Amino acid sequence: MKILVTGGSGFIGSHLTELLLAQGHEVVTLDDFSTGRQDFLQLVAGHDRHTLVEGSVTDRKVLAAAMNGCDAVFHLAAVLGVKNTVENPLKVIEGNIDGTRHVLELAYERQAKVTFASTSEIYGKNQDLPFREDESNRVLGAPCIHHWCYATAKALDEHMCYAYADKGLPMSIVRFFNAYGPRQSSSQYGGVVSRFIKAALRQEPLEVYGDGNQTRCFTYVGDAVRGTMATLRKEANGLAFNIGSDRPISINDLAAEIKRVTGSSSPIVRRSYEEIHGPGFEDTPARLPDLTRSHQVLGYRPNVLLAEGLTRTAEWFRTQEGSGV
Ligand code: NAD
Repeated sequence: MKILVTGGSGFIGSHLTELLLAQGHEVVTLDDFSTGRQDFLQLVAGHDRHTLVEGSVTDRKVLAAAMNGCDAVFHLAAVLGVKNTVENPLKVIEGNIDGTRHVLELAYERQAKVTFASTSEIYGKNQDLPFREDESNRVLGAPCIHHWCYATAKALDEHMCYAYADKGLPMSIVRFFNAYGPRQSSSQYGGVVSRFIKAALRQEPLEVYGDGNQTRCFTYVGDAVRGTMATLRKEANGLAFNIGSDRPISINDLAAEIKRVTGSSSPIVRRSYEEIHGPGFEDTPARLPDLTRSHQVLGYRPNVLLAEGLTRTAEWFRTQEGSGV
């Protein structure tokens, strides 16, 4: 197939691009390099089935040209990160709604299959674990709390996906649960695993936000992209899928495990949400995916255990010291 990957030079997108090429597909990567990096695609640089296009999904002309002749689109381009949602809500809202609308409209005209990258955050404050894809008891926080704008924008994107599916567009949704691995940003805007690993390797404090008892299901990026690619199956059309691990760990235990894996003597320190994100920040105590559907329809199972995934990620970060990642 000829496949467009938006956000394809980002963390998950670059791994997906490599996998699709390895499976024999032709891949067009579209990225504006806002957080993605050209060197994340160095393993496929010069590949004869790969084209890299610099541009934004909000630029309809560029997007239309990139999508021409494509049978499928993996739409990963997005503005994300908890700190971004709190500090730059407009960037997050516009960055996540406008591009998705363009992707869906143009894919519909071409009848190209769309797989949309959504998030476990759309389950909101729900604590009825594990989360099942079509459950209706999601509660998102008040719109005056910026943190919820990312989940709200992604939920609206999902509404658009389902609306186009009703019109006949083949589409699937993948909801990632805390993906981690090589190439994830370790900046304040990035993920907790990469932030902790970078600090641990530098013997700097690992900063746990809140009491650290909140639990998450960290998903190694290799597992995440296998699950994502499997949505090309026809049986996946019209459905959302949880893509995660089913082994929750608290942030306190994650910090301890990262210290163990890296052999670090960094201290673990606690910082209040208020100190980091300002007043009114609401976190979710626990997130756990029900993987029944993704296993039955996609054949998805998380294979990489946390200790192994953290070791691989730490190895990669060791090679990046001084590169600004
Ligand atoms: P990332 O920031 O590394 O990737 C996003 C990519 O999109 C970057 O390469 C960035 O340059 C690009 N991009 C942003 N705006 C763009 C635009 N307007 N036009 C073109 N390219 C643009 O983040 P990621 O973790 O790889 O996330 C990929 C997708 O998965 C996103 O849609 C994100 O919301 C979703 N997701 C990720 C996680 C996770 O744990 N990493 C969890 C849930 C959902």
